[in-house]
Amino acid sequence: MNEFKNKTVIVTGGGQGIGRAVSRAFSSEGARVVIADTDVEAGLENEKFIKSSGYEAAYIKTDVSDAASVRAMVAEAIRKYDTVHILVNNAAVSGFGNIFETPVEEWDKAISVNLSGMYYCAKFCAPHMRDMNYGNIINMASTRAFMSEPDTEPYSASKGGIFALTHALAISLGQYGIRVNSVSPGWIDVSSWKKSSAAKQEVLSQRDHKQHPAGRVGIPEDIAQACLFLASDKSGFITGENLTVDGGMTKKMIYE
Ligand code: ADP
Repeated sequence: MNEFKNKTVIVTGGGQGIGRAVSRAFSSEGARVVIADTDVEAGLENEKFIKSSGYEAAYIKTDVSDAASVRAMVAEAIRKYDTVHILVNNAAVSGFGNIFETPVEEWDKAISVNLSGMYYCAKFCAPHMRDMNYGNIINMASTRAFMSEPDTEPYSASKGGIFALTHALAISLGQYGIRVNSVSPGWIDVSSWKKSSAAKQEVLSQRDHKQHPAGRVGIPEDIAQACLFLASDKSGFITGENLTVDGGMTKKMIYE
């Protein structure tokens, strides 16, 4: 229950969805959690929940696509908790739409939040990790990084870039005791992890569940457990790698 005691973890996009589950999983293992999110209501709600469970958490309003905002967030985290041991780069926006009609701003936004945001967070956390000769970075990619549906170019390309960013960072930072990996979630039912005021019940059909060899779609806790594993010493020889967490969906051959 205390695997991450005395560790500081920054979870971007930790206000809701998968990031909320990830931040709570780390806190329930004793970590101090920084919730870095644009959404003040969701961030404060999660901070309150974690504190009421007896753990340490701080919401810091952050726009990961703005380097100055990331720099300020990391500085505040360091002021509060002295250092940062683990970074979970999770903040993301969607970015779907037909290429003929989708405005270029949709592309720019997906790349700047989903990809540049991860680079900025890594850039400003890495010096502190280097000082300790210890650090762990987990980048939230997606199964859409390596397979596609129509009309997903901005999102898919931003997630594909995360694979390259992950192995590039792993190569550069390995000598400082910093491991860098990615997690690629498949279908995840996040309906119960949205901030309460905006809870939307996305009802997944039996068909959605049956698409998966595991017999069900994923839940945010599945992703949180993968993050705990990658951040722990149990995965000490794994770096530059991607862990797909999709109930086998992407291994299934489809005959139409
Ligand atoms: P998922 O279903 O993949 O978990 P969500 O939309 O529920 O996705 O969660 C993404 C989180 O990332 C949200 O809390 C959202 O506020 C946050 N987020 C989106 N854009 C930014 C950004 N630019 N900076 C920081 N957090 C962001």
